Parts: sequence; structure tokens; C-alpha cells
Amino acid sequence: MLTPRQLFLRHQAQTSDFPLLLEIERAEGVYMFDAEGQRYLDLISGIGVSNVGHRHPRVLQAIQQQLDKYLHLMVYGELVQAPPAVLAEALHRTLPPYLDNVYFTNSGTEAVEGALKLAKRHTSRTGLLSSYNAYHGSTHGALSITGSESFKNSFRPLLPNVQHFRHNNFDDLSLITKHTAAVIIETVQGEAGVRVPAPGYLPALRQRCTEMGALLILDEIQCGFGRTGTFWAFEQFGIEPDILLTAKGMGGGMPIGAFISSQEIMSGFKTDPILGHCTTFGGHPVSCAASLATLQVIQEEQLLTGVAEKATRFRQQLVHPAIREVRGCGLLMAVEFDSFDILKPIIDHALWHEHILTDWFLFCDNSLRIAPPLTITNAQIDDACTALLRAITAVAGE
Ligand code: PMP
Repeated sequence: MLTPRQLFLRHQAQTSDFPLLLEIERAEGVYMFDAEGQRYLDLISGIGVSNVGHRHPRVLQAIQQQLDKYLHLMVYGELVQAPPAVLAEALHRTLPPYLDNVYFTNSGTEAVEGALKLAKRHTSRTGLLSSYNAYHGSTHGALSITGSESFKNSFRPLLPNVQHFRHNNFDDLSLITKHTAAVIIETVQGEAGVRVPAPGYLPALRQRCTEMGALLILDEIQCGFGRTGTFWAFEQFGIEPDILLTAKGMGGGMPIGAFISSQEIMSGFKTDPILGHCTTFGGHPVSCAASLATLQVIQEEQLLTGVAEKATRFRQQLVHPAIREVRGCGLLMAVEFDSFDILKPIIDHALWHEHILTDWFLFCDNSLRIAPPLTITNAQIDDACTALLRAITAVAGE
């Protein structure tokens, strides 16, 4: 009998030659456990997924209750099913009143795809603009607007009429013209290595979009659902989107995403053609039940109030000659080192000797990711920082 590890390597598609190969048997709160019962502190939450911790009891209860009623019934949008309907209203209550229409997907990249189509449909334009080093997903449309040539080159041709602007560069806003259907931007860039918008940048971007009649799509797939300390990251930057994207942390561990807009814009999918966007599994009732519970946990356990303080606690302790900079917005943080050559052994040492799980960023391989469940306690932060500093010293010296 082959072990799961052997089966994983032999039969499960690999996307790199150096997977971590840590086998986890169960998880709870901020911890994961291997078959020997060894505990690992999760500092990345599955890249911003487990914002309320692994297997939050309220999320489990909501899933259980929905399991007892029904699983899948019908493709999206035909039958009335309470879980997506109730979740859509709950999301609406966290948003500016005009963002009142939710289209549910299964993932982040699907939310991106739907939003791009919607923007083209609404504006009757084709131009798309996104930032260099932005990551928006791996399907063809999302890949087209991802801002990394090396990531895209082998998969061309991709969508035409895509341009990139330099993040935080005010001059590049002139690239937004009357031919632009949509500008898409992560409110706080994730895979670029956590890049926070400069003061006044997002308001200027918003204004230029409005002047040119281009829709502004905010990708909060990684930075939304409480990650930065407000429910939506855009609340901190004085702007509002035409279309908002969410996924990852939204499901409390279950697969779900959404693009959210106004009734008026979303109605474009009803005509020319009718059924302008279809999905079989989007808005799955079990995922929606889990998502509603996740939203309620964030609100009722007041998880947002502690985020800024917890981030400060990390920053105060993560001081070492090898650390060049700590960037962040709430509990979406990047700790920068000189190079990947130093960072990778630190990550490996932290995992195998300190039992701390972290990683780097797709487009920023000299920075260590810190994005734990928002439920992490002060004591757990202190443990994580002590262990990380030990790993850094082991690799880089005092
Ligand atoms: N947008 C952003 C900002 C992301 O971080 C990601 C995933 N890392 C995606 C889109 C794509 O989401 P998914 O992997 O669920 O397709």
C-alpha cells in the first residue's frame, strides 16, 4: 500500500518540484496537527482563507445544519435557496447601499472572470487595466490581467487590450481613458509582497475612473473579510468600488467567492444574451451557510477590533539585523529579507524545527508572509515571534 505522500507525488498534479510535503491530519484554531500529533502554528491561514481559524465551531454547526437539509439542487439562479439569498443580504449590509447585488462563484478567479465580463457588458468597451505585480487568478481572463510577464508568457494568446500601470504611480493614471472598460486593483496588493496604497492614490484612481466612465473593480479576494482590520479593506482608503470581489476568507474554509455590484450593473447579464453568466456550483448552499456563519463570527466575536493591535505586536517583536522591513495592513504582513537565498532556509527551518508554517509571495520572493487567523492570541503571537527569530538567527546569525 502506498502512503498518501507517495500517492500525492505520483498521482496528484504538481505545480513545482519542491512541495513542502508536510502531511496534516487535522486542524483546529490556529494549529494544524500531523499524524504523530505534532502541532504546527499556522501563520498564513491557507493564504488568507482561515480568517476565523480552522474549523470554527459556528462554521461547523452551520455546515452540519445545511447538510441535513440539502446539498446541490440546480444550476445557479433558478431555484430559491435560502443560504445564498440570506448571505447576499448579509453581505449587502456590510457595504455601501448601492452595492446590493451578489453573484456567487466557487473561487476567486471565477469572481474575477465574472467581473471582467460584467464590466465589458456594462460599458460596451474592451480595455482592461491592472497593476504590475498584481495577482488576480490563474484562469485565462484573470491571468491576462495578472501583472507578471514571466507568469503569462507561456500561455499566450491571452485577452487583448490589457495594459498595466505602476502601483502607486499617479502619472500612470492617464492610461485610464474613454476606451477603458475597467480598472482592477487589489485594495492592498497581496502577492506583490503586501503593498499598501500611498496616501491619496486610491481616491485619485477612483476619480479618474469616474471621469472616464471606466468601472473600478476592487479585488479583495485576499485582503477582504477582516484581514486588514476593517471588514473590507477599502473602508480604510476613502473610496468605493463599482464591483467588489471576494473569496478566500469568505467561506471560513469552504470554497466560495463572489462579485458584488449594483442591481443596475448586474442586470447586464439578463439580456443580450439571456443567461449572460452561468455556473453549476456557484453559491453552493453548504458554502453559503459556512460563509454566513463566518461573517457572523467576525462581527459577533468582534474580531476586527483586535487586528491592528495584533499586527503591532508582531512588528514590535520582529526586529533582527537580517530583517530589512516589515510591511503590512492589519494581519496581512510581509517581512522582507535581502534575498530568497536567505528567506527560503528561514521558512524551512521555521517549519521543520520550530513548527511554524509560513511562506513567501508569488511576485516577491524575498519576503516572508505573515497572515495568521484573526483569532490568534497575544500568547500565540509571542510564541510565533520567538520561534521565527530563532529560525532567522539559525540561518542568518545574530
Ligand atoms: N485575487 C487575489 C488578490 C488573490 O490573492 C487570489 C489568490 N491568491 C486570487 C485572486 C485567485 O483566487 P483563487 O485562487 O480562489 O482562484
